[in-house]
Amino acid sequence: KLQVNDIRNWMNLSNQLIQENKSYLTELDQAIGDSDHGINMARGFQEVITKIQDQSYSTPSDMLKDVAMTLMSKVGGAAGPLYGTAFLKLSMAWKNKSEIQVNDIKDGLQAGLDGIKQRGKATSGEKTMIDVWDPVVQLFSENDITDPSLIEETAKQAMNNTKDLKATKGRASYFKEKSIDNIDPGSASSYYIFSALSTSLQ
Ligand code: ADP
Ligand code: MG
Ligand code: MG
Repeated sequence: KLQVNDIRNWMNLSNQLIQENKSYLTELDQAIGDSDHGINMARGFQEVITKIQDQSYSTPSDMLKDVAMTLMSKVGGAAGPLYGTAFLKLSMAWKNKSEIQVNDIKDGLQAGLDGIKQRGKATSGEKTMIDVWDPVVQLFSENDITDPSLIEETAKQAMNNTKDLKATKGRASYFKEKSIDNIDPGSASSYYIFSALSTSLQ
């Protein structure tokens, strides 16, 4: 289960992974985008940490609302509003709860995924971050997550699977067939976020 400090830990770990892999994310976006995904995410998550690090929150939901607002206004590009929406839905799903149980995580991630789909008018198989969120949500609905490292493994596999897909949404879709054979940048950043979640649940 997760409490306010675990969520802060989740965000700190996400930020660490994103800062460490900033150039890699930008490289991925260079191949099938406009080379800014690493910069966008590194800026946004650094702002998230600045915002939440010294604030006291009574619930995870309150903290995640600040996370969502910060991502929405600071990440920019396509990913900013999408991640902002996902974390806002997560915040709404966990409203007033002081402890988040595995079942709440399942419901919250499902709400986040639905939010991303709605906001981006996209679905699975279009080579976007949805292709990482979807399998992770499925993992939660099909299994009792007794081993949190399953989350990391599932997200990693899903990220790698985006390589074979052809992009039909976002900037990568302009590359048509040429988008194949590249990992989707937003799927890689989503992998870092789920990898961090996996660690903070251990
Ligand atoms: P931009 O493309 O505006 O430069 P970023 O480079 O920050 O924005 O983010 C690109 C990522 O956003 C993509 O790799 C993809 O995962 C995600 N993305 C783009 N469009 C959509 C969409 N319609 N639905 C879901 N995810 C999307
Ligand atoms: Mg980009
Ligand atoms: Mg851009």
